[in-house]
Amino acid sequence: MKVLIVDDNPDSVDCIAHIIADFPDTIIKAYNGEEAIEITKKEAPYLILLDIMMPKLNGFQVCKILSNDISTKSIPIIMISAKTEVHDIKKGLEAGAYDYIRKPFAPTELLARVISAARFKKSQDELLKTKQRLESMNEELAHLAITDSLTQVYNHTFLISTLKYELSRTERFAKSMAFLMIDIDLFKQVNDTYGHLIGDEVLKEIVTIIKAPIRAIDVLGRYGGEEFGLLLPETNEKGAVVLAEKIRKHVEEHKFSVSDGVQYVSISLTVSIGVAIYPDKEVTNVLTLIKKADDALYISKNEGRNKVYKIK
Ligand code: GH3
Ligand code: MG
Ligand code: MG
Repeated sequence: MKVLIVDDNPDSVDCIAHIIADFPDTIIKAYNGEEAIEITKKEAPYLILLDIMMPKLNGFQVCKILSNDISTKSIPIIMISAKTEVHDIKKGLEAGAYDYIRKPFAPTELLARVISAARFKKSQDELLKTKQRLESMNEELAHLAITDSLTQVYNHTFLISTLKYELSRTERFAKSMAFLMIDIDLFKQVNDTYGHLIGDEVLKEIVTIIKAPIRAIDVLGRYGGEEFGLLLPETNEKGAVVLAEKIRKHVEEHKFSVSDGVQYVSISLTVSIGVAIYPDKEVTNVLTLIKKADDALYISKNEGRNKVYKIK
């Protein structure tokens, strides 16, 4: 623990240093206001003992500057002064001081107040750490609440709420949007042949293939099982079909090389994709949008799989 002592009188600095000598690990010294601010910023002391009457920058001014600076405001300042009027004490505390000791002081009292300020600083630091920990846990929870844990794409709930939002935005601004339902063909066979762990790895890998050609504003979510929903804002039928075809082709051409920790397998797969667009006379809400994509997907499957389909 570092304590900074500030006084324009070197004898006073040495006297205070002597009294508190056993408490801090290190004592640093400053002999005027400017130096006090400079050292505080460089050394980040645990607490500061500050004289008031100093030439140029006095203790009130130093205290105000340090208390208003985000990088130094958490350092407790104990003012030590021969100015003993009540209004001086008030002025010191208003400038941001933690405590105020009148000269002449009893050494025991000075040490006790230093220890009390250090205790205060310790509990403030602990509170701050707890706050930071809670904030990062909140971020983590917010992420978990919208993410599919296996594939790390958005989960069903987030996908649906984003679809709702985007649909109303698209309607409001008379734009167009698309929704793709992407389903892995004959995925059950992968599980039946190689086991579910391999199946899981394939699900993770296919996400990277689907994501590669999409834009940052597109929203990919796991609709359920081996089905993914892809929301394409500001996209018309032509754009949606071109992208869907790209995804279909990339998957078809990709060799999935995955392992469950015991076996390595290399498999080829295909996907079928149903495309729905808004505006569309049959699409009036999210449910009818999803149904339209799902119906198109059903036709892709019936026509032999590995197809992109859009119902006219
Ligand atoms: P189709 O071409 O008609 O879509 O055939 P399919 O086999 O892909 O479809 P089906 O609905 O018969 O089977 C889907 C399979 O997806 C069955 C299920 O076990 C598997 N599946 C769903 N979720 C997961 C998962 O999280 N991990 C693994 N490994 N498999 C999953
Ligand atoms: Mg399937
Ligand atoms: Mg399915």
